[in-house]
Amino acid sequence: MAEDTTEHELNSDEAAELTRDDLALGDEPHPGHDLASGDEPHPGHDLALGDEFHSGDEPHDDDENREPELDPEVAARRAAALAQVRKFGDPVLKTRARPVDRFDDALRSEIARMGELMIDALGVGLAATQVGVLHRVLVYRVQQQSPVAALVNPEIEWSGSDQEIMEEGCLSLPAVLVDVERAIHVRVRAVDEFGEPVLVEASGLEARVIQHEIDHLDGVLILNRTSRDQRKEAMRTLREAQAAA
Ligand SMILES: [Zn+2]
Repeated sequence: MAEDTTEHELNSDEAAELTRDDLALGDEPHPGHDLASGDEPHPGHDLALGDEFHSGDEPHDDDENREPELDPEVAARRAAALAQVRKFGDPVLKTRARPVDRFDDALRSEIARMGELMIDALGVGLAATQVGVLHRVLVYRVQQQSPVAALVNPEIEWSGSDQEIMEEGCLSLPAVLVDVERAIHVRVRAVDEFGEPVLVEASGLEARVIQHEIDHLDGVLILNRTSRDQRKEAMRTLREAQAAA
């Protein structure tokens, strides 16, 4: 997919639209507070997510307990990590990050910190904008035993024409799951934390996570990539979560 220079402007419009949707929602009758689809999130979907393995384990009023209980220590670490992740409504999430031009120890410790946060949060990816840093940096790990991969200044050089729709969650959008269509295969050019060139050919979940995180670096959220109905439902979920906090 080619770079789109109007992307940022479009995002702002989208954001304005989201706000309008949000304001309008209060008047509309809507049944319950379940996910729009009515489908139960089941373990098979979990691997499809963007930032998250799952988001059904937020400590809120859901008494159906579809997700396995987390070990209390793991849950506490996750909560502490999530507290450091910027959430929906924070303007930094709509801001386009700047390319990195200094490959110093500060950058490397920033990347290490992002990796630790992502692991503690039980995420599969994290973009610098999600921790309030406007650098074009992302980390990801789609297989639990693999080392964390970091991409600096990533660019999607090529996307295959095959696309698929899968459910994604985002560490910045607690309890939200929406369907997102993405290219199944991508080739991404980037550099590593030392400024050395990296070329990643990714497919499936890895390709999806990289696209999700590059979106973050462009100020784009999964809410901008899903259907209007799912976006409305997600806005309601977010509002309810904020009201309960
Ligand atoms: Zn995300």
